Amino acid sequence: MKTARLVLAALLAAGTAVAGASSTCHGSVKQGSLEDGVQLPADGANFSVYSTLGAAMGRNYVHSEVAAIMLGAYAKLERAAPGSQYVYGETGFVNGGRIRPHRTHQNGLSVDFFVPVRDRKGRPARLPMPASQHFGYDIEFDGAARYGEYSIDFAALGEHLYQLDLAARARGQGIAQVIFDTAYLPRLFDTPHGAALKQLNFMKGKPWVRHDEHYHVDFAIACLN
Ligand SMILES: [Zn+2]
Repeated sequence: MKTARLVLAALLAAGTAVAGASSTCHGSVKQGSLEDGVQLPADGANFSVYSTLGAAMGRNYVHSEVAAIMLGAYAKLERAAPGSQYVYGETGFVNGGRIRPHRTHQNGLSVDFFVPVRDRKGRPARLPMPASQHFGYDIEFDGAARYGEYSIDFAALGEHLYQLDLAARARGQGIAQVIFDTAYLPRLFDTPHGAALKQLNFMKGKPWVRHDEHYHVDFAIACLN
């Protein structure tokens, strides 16, 4: 047992999602905790963490099922959205619980994703996320979905949500809720998977912070009380 734990720790340290290591979540995203949380890899072929400092501070742990869904979706996106660069934001702590300033993210099932963008020339780009802008969270996109030379790549965003939904279903799980600026939803629905995306449960009311630079996803995975 001890050996197994050591091997697991070594694999996690190597940034590898571990097949077979399964987490247990408790309570809800608003008040909950996580056992045996899995730390997401800092980067992969087409994705990266929002901040290596955030990762070093342990702010990118999730439920093992969420890790499997996320990594499965990124793998599919290598073909479905070639060239697109995806960035995930804060998720939660290894044992869950309150992670300020988030009001949810408590049981390993919540993930923030930064919007994929294109630069002035229309090439896939990575948003600059300096610490001075709360690692990207303070970035504000305008009504035309632009920020400086960057514009939101709605097709790449739609493909991501679509692949997340497929990957979740393939594991018998689902997406409970997506939070994204409602003003942008018509543009999201006007992409190749628009009809399927409309079936997702987008929060209709106003969230406590504007979700323009990132979209928040709560996965539907059974938890213990
Ligand atoms: Zn969030």
